[in-house]
Amino acid sequence: MVKRLVLASPRGYCAGVERAVETVERALELHGAPVYVRKQIVHNAHVVRDLERRGAVFVDNVGEVPRGSNVVFSAHGVSPAVRHSARFRGLRAIDATCPLVSKVHAEARHFARLGYTIFLIGHAGHEEVDGTTGEAPQSTLLVETAEQAEICYATTNRQRAVKRIVAAVDLLLVIGSRNSSNSNRLVDVARAGGVVAYLIDDESEIDEAWLDGVESVGITSGASAPESLVRRVVGWFRERGVSQVESLDGAFEDVFFKLPREVRADGVTRT
Ligand code: SF4
Repeated sequence: MVKRLVLASPRGYCAGVERAVETVERALELHGAPVYVRKQIVHNAHVVRDLERRGAVFVDNVGEVPRGSNVVFSAHGVSPAVRHSARFRGLRAIDATCPLVSKVHAEARHFARLGYTIFLIGHAGHEEVDGTTGEAPQSTLLVETAEQAEICYATTNRQRAVKRIVAAVDLLLVIGSRNSSNSNRLVDVARAGGVVAYLIDDESEIDEAWLDGVESVGITSGASAPESLVRRVVGWFRERGVSQVESLDGAFEDVFFKLPREVRADGVTRT
């Protein structure tokens, strides 16, 4: 019988995701529906469905966007070829690429210009990888098997928090969608630490059989999963009599990225 919940910290939304979601919300406020978004703005099914309800239209490529419309580029970044296609179609682009991803793009261009070969660790077909490869296609070699690639502060901190929490729990639930690389990685880190771990989109995916003989359940969330989902999962356990809920705090995060220029009102960023 579960008696205790332990929440990993930091978890959930990173500054890049926060900015990308707010960018679509601001674009909807400023321009009205529909606002087209190339690819899932962040890799979370709940976030995408919520924005769809509010008038966002997600497309796989800019060729599906009516000429002259607004199109938001997702947090994962796009290649120069995509920017070019958008311009060619007369689209008004709003770039929600995470600034840390843009930094990686700039470094790819820089080192390619200097004649270096770039080893890019990632998975073929993922938007992040396609975007970065597209910056220097002749100079980039994709490495798909490196397990320990850490791309930024948020993924590093969330993985460290999982490494700490596994010592305190019998089972870890990672809230995140199947296509979220960093969420899958949190599951891997927990399993490597010897703890049973499952990836769930929300509380409806919890299988009560997982909880047999389990006293302490850890909860964390990927960088694209909203905190509201953590509250829902905690609520699910509370409804089943779990009253002890604690947080295992790790690194303090105060990273904040300004919204893209195109959606800032009077050039002032909403906080
Ligand atoms: Fe940016 Fe890191 Fe968040 Fe990706 S996980 S959007 S690189 S802050």
